[in-house]
Amino acid sequence: MERQLHPNRLGGQWLIMSSPSYTVIIGLEVHTQLKTKSKLFCGCANEFNPDRPNTQTCAVCLGLPGALPVMNRHAFDLSLKTALALKCNIPHFTKWDRKQYYYPDLPKAYQISQFDLPFSEHGWLEITNDEEGGPVRRINITRAHLEEDAGKNVHDESGRGGDSGVDLNRTGTPLLEIVSEPDLRSASEARRYLEEMRTLLLFIGVSDCNMQEGSLRCDANVNLHIHNDDGSTTATPIVELKNMNSFRNVEMAIDYEVKRQHREFQKTGKTIDDSSKVTRGWDAERSITFAQREKEDVSDYRFFPDPDLVPVVLTESEIEAVRETLPETPAVKRDRFQNQFGLTEYDASVIIGQGPEINAYFEAVESACGDGKIAANWVTQDVLRDLNASECGVDDFPITSEILGTLLKWITSDRLTNKSAREVYGALKKKAESGDMISVTDVETLAAEREIVRDTGALETAITAAIASRPDAVEDVKAGKLQAVGPMMGMVMKQVGGADPKEVREMLIRMIQES
Ligand SMILES: [Zn+2]
Repeated sequence: MERQLHPNRLGGQWLIMSSPSYTVIIGLEVHTQLKTKSKLFCGCANEFNPDRPNTQTCAVCLGLPGALPVMNRHAFDLSLKTALALKCNIPHFTKWDRKQYYYPDLPKAYQISQFDLPFSEHGWLEITNDEEGGPVRRINITRAHLEEDAGKNVHDESGRGGDSGVDLNRTGTPLLEIVSEPDLRSASEARRYLEEMRTLLLFIGVSDCNMQEGSLRCDANVNLHIHNDDGSTTATPIVELKNMNSFRNVEMAIDYEVKRQHREFQKTGKTIDDSSKVTRGWDAERSITFAQREKEDVSDYRFFPDPDLVPVVLTESEIEAVRETLPETPAVKRDRFQNQFGLTEYDASVIIGQGPEINAYFEAVESACGDGKIAANWVTQDVLRDLNASECGVDDFPITSEILGTLLKWITSDRLTNKSAREVYGALKKKAESGDMISVTDVETLAAEREIVRDTGALETAITAAIASRPDAVEDVKAGKLQAVGPMMGMVMKQVGGADPKEVREMLIRMIQES
């Protein structure tokens, strides 16, 4: 009986306490396709090309007898760049190993990978805390290693029992595997880690991270540490989750798995010692995980050094040469945006999270108008909204950074109100939508028509007329009801388009009080 097996965990009345009775333990394996022209060990094109299967293959990636692989140095350098951005140690010696298994999409029946001496290890990636404004969380990276990808089995998904095929276009393309320590403590944290990883990979330009095309994939190792009443903990069996093709799915699958493991443990009491690692797939349609297979042991793969490839020996200066190509990382940029421009952490994260192109756009607007906060407001609100609506990339966006920067310069130099600037922005958009080219000259013309009127003579005349026409409101203002200036303000603004509302309001109140 379960009660007797686990008297402290199950059924007892003091167990109704609702404090969290377990800690969630998550480690992630991220696979990213590197953006190279050719594959890892041959000259075939490295391109996503599902419509023309088996057109990007050769004797080497097909594993034909006598074919010999040669390492793609660019792929290795991109991996090195990633590992350096993740603060990994780079040993000066690394080698290639064969991982043996049979699968239809693996014609050689082994994969060239890295076993005991990966090219990098012991790094970290910082992510934001679950609690807003909490300290950053440092997630340790166990290792990153480079390997060749397998091909793809293509099944008839119509359910009509058509043939399955094998597409070997992907066979042998460079795949970087980044393995984290089991440092993540919640599904939302796992998602933030993935988002931060993706942003980093995009910024350093090593991958396009397209999850739909499979150039960014993730497996999650999940288990629970159950807190026992005597203060000890019991670990549940580790489950490896697969088939999660979006960050949202990763988060949902982990959440589901945590609850499932807790229920399972309450039912069976099975611990990590009772079961080897199991693979479970995520069924996105039904929002459940399902058992796939017992995981192979590392020894099942019979790793051994690949005799066809020479080991890679690196000098310190070669490592430094790659380090010098590293751009500012997203984390450093986020800090700089907050310190240099006074952006909130949220705004900085939104801009950086949009990727390098939006980021470059923002920086160009900032440098044109000289005010990071105003630039951030416009980019995060107006520009992102319009980009999403039009589904076009920022490079095709008609309101270029130069045009927006010019417009915002009118605000920062106090010559245009925010409201008028939005009118100009709308007019520019309209012109672009009708197919006309828009330019900086258009901005200057439209803005000049709405320039804040500094002619206090004209303002005074309009205000005097407004005061004279509304003696009732004037009494109210004098009596302290300042909101009564509203209708008079409207009259003045109508008369002197381009007047600064703030200035009009101040002048109105002052002139009423002096009258
Ligand atoms: Zn090839």
